[in-house]
Amino acid sequence: MVLFDKVTKVYKGDIVALDNVTFTLDPKEFVFVVGPSGAGKSTVIRLLIRQELPSDGEIVFEDVDVTKIPRRLLSVYRQQLGVVFQDLKLIPSKTVRQNVRFALEILNKPKNISDETTDFLLEKVGLQDRANLFPDELSGGEKQRVGIARALANDPKLLIADEPTGNLDPITSMGILELLNAINQSGTTLIVVTHDKKIVDSMQTRVLHMEKGKIISDHKGGYDDLS
Ligand code: ADP
Repeated sequence: MVLFDKVTKVYKGDIVALDNVTFTLDPKEFVFVVGPSGAGKSTVIRLLIRQELPSDGEIVFEDVDVTKIPRRLLSVYRQQLGVVFQDLKLIPSKTVRQNVRFALEILNKPKNISDETTDFLLEKVGLQDRANLFPDELSGGEKQRVGIARALANDPKLLIADEPTGNLDPITSMGILELLNAINQSGTTLIVVTHDKKIVDSMQTRVLHMEKGKIISDHKGGYDDLS
């Protein structure tokens, strides 16, 4: 589904964010991307969603060369991806329901479909009884669930979550992980960028461990197991 082939990203000032990175991702996989701050994790995401272009190497998503997608087709490409950003970017003046619905309105879905899908998504992330609250009135875990519901609006093949348990307590984090796991079990491929050893260790799934712009280990297991 995803191929990074010898991908290098050098920023201005000779900062090597990614150094010859190669990995593939199969449909329905659940993979954690871990490693210290500055390792290159967010750069992988930025390149995958074509926010930036690599300096060298090839990035393929479902047989499409991501680096060659013309600008006018970028929105079509990105509609296949769901992204939960670290800064969730929820709209403070809109309720939970309106925040989720807005993601569907942008996709020009008919009103009745938007309403139905919003209800479906709110139920999926367990926020039916929070639908009329504003982001300020939610806990950190609930905000994260809104971000996940919104990212699922276009029924993405691949869901990317950047530090989804960043500021959450352990119990809330495990709840978010269970939700992501359920989404994966229903067929969505998942990439989760995280520092959170506990959630990685609990899943015992594939881990891409990055350091200094390189993948130092690609293994199945806990955070610190190395391949
Ligand atoms: P991580 O997500 O693992 O914390 P990043 O992918 O954000 O790491 O960053 C990898 C490296 O690239 C870091 O050294 C960072 O300072 C550098 N970097 C990231 N974005 C830019 C940018 N726009 N300009 C220059 N350097 C950058």
